[in-house]
Amino acid sequence: MDYEAVIGLETHVQLKTRSKMWCGCANAFGAPPNTNVCPVCLGMPGVLPVPNEEALRLTALTGLLLNGSIPARAKFDRKSYFYPDMPKNYQITQYDQPSTLGGFVEFEFEGRIDRVRITRAHLEEDVGKSFHFDRNSGVDFNRAGVPLLEIVSEPDLTSADMAYTYLNALKEILVYGGVSDCDMEKGMVRCDVNVSVRPKGQPELGAKIEIKNMNSFSGVRRALEHEIPRQIEVLRRGGTLIQSTRRWDDVGGRTEEMRTKEHAHDYRYFPDPDLMPLAPTEDWLAAVRRRVVELPLARKQRFVRDYQLPASDAEVFKNDVPLGDYFEPLAQQSKNPKAVANWVINNLRAKIAGSSSRREEAGEKSEIRNPKSEIGQSLLTSAPTSVSLADLRFKPEALLELVGLVEAKTISNSAAQQVFGEMFDTGKPPTMIVQEKGLAQVSDSGAIEKFCDDAIAANPGPAADFRAGKVAALNFLKGQVMKASKGKANPNLVGDILERKLGT
Ligand SMILES: [Zn+2]
Repeated sequence: MDYEAVIGLETHVQLKTRSKMWCGCANAFGAPPNTNVCPVCLGMPGVLPVPNEEALRLTALTGLLLNGSIPARAKFDRKSYFYPDMPKNYQITQYDQPSTLGGFVEFEFEGRIDRVRITRAHLEEDVGKSFHFDRNSGVDFNRAGVPLLEIVSEPDLTSADMAYTYLNALKEILVYGGVSDCDMEKGMVRCDVNVSVRPKGQPELGAKIEIKNMNSFSGVRRALEHEIPRQIEVLRRGGTLIQSTRRWDDVGGRTEEMRTKEHAHDYRYFPDPDLMPLAPTEDWLAAVRRRVVELPLARKQRFVRDYQLPASDAEVFKNDVPLGDYFEPLAQQSKNPKAVANWVINNLRAKIAGSSSRREEAGEKSEIRNPKSEIGQSLLTSAPTSVSLADLRFKPEALLELVGLVEAKTISNSAAQQVFGEMFDTGKPPTMIVQEKGLAQVSDSGAIEKFCDDAIAANPGPAADFRAGKVAALNFLKGQVMKASKGKANPNLVGDILERKLGT
């Protein structure tokens, strides 16, 4: 019998606010333990929480970015349970009236556009963090009360790879929207995985097994690659799976049971009496709507469509937003956007990466300067190029000029590389560099004829080979002519003249 997996993900994302959810303490990573705390986030008796408005806005913004809706009324609830790192003994969250409902995430998977439906995204608070030492334990409450968004997907995922791809797409959207930096190293994204298996074609779901507290996307993928076959194996042997919570042991590469699942009523949810329900006004929502940005997938598709770029180029401009923003106005002015993309991706990007790493070696700290958006900052790990686009010595239009010189065959491709290097270093316009360095191609056939005659006379062997039908011999002769002309001869013209002289 064939089995299929059904996977849903609950993704917890730390919101990009300056202060915590209910107090003025800093939402900052890396401070010494228990320095970003106050009576509110330490859960002292008699304190009152005050909602962080930016967190409310970022939550609504996420709802819009995920194609969901913003209900006219939402509220906060207390979820009661005991945990040593949770000072109030309850967590403020949203139970039956969350701030956003529905929506979907679209992403590329196995050569098509796939879609995972979103159930809801609700706002809650983070708890502190326990540390265990040799003889005692300690709790750091710096993280207690930090705003967290829990994004719950429908069980639309069917494989470990698909879950991994969905998580990356979700992360890209949140980083693009400025909702979260999604820095995994700083624990800004954590994930609970719900996975069950069932015989293919069976409408009912199997027993739901939850893997808690995953803190990396690759961990989620590995856990699923282990857990799905494990569940199938239990069923194949005639065993029964029961609803339970498991833990992923990353070192051992396996999941282990923690407990059988609590039911919702165990948490004794009830509306938080200290917090008023939320009723967003039209004006407030309109201000949030103005912060909606183009989604990563839409940007990639637009670059493919509007500039006839291959998907791989568009992918580069999706991942490196500043580089794409640099390319786009040039592409709009060019008849050959693909040629412009080649220069931006293959030459400009490589040059900047090289020069910024040299600068770092020299002890200079490289900073991100992208006045247009903060987007580049978080994507920077994969795209070091945005470091100094703003510092370029040449004007963006100089690249168009360079592309034009190549297209008009004024300069050869190899000369163009030289011109690019020079304009990168000095900021001089390409035309000026071509004149100064005498790089213009020789298209004067009289001069080229002379070079060709010399090459044939000096290389009777290859010339005879070519006459005897060995086509590759022509390349050798062509190379000799290019060398003699110091790379300036127009290569097409050289080929034509050589062929004519060799009598074909
Ligand atoms: Zn506080």
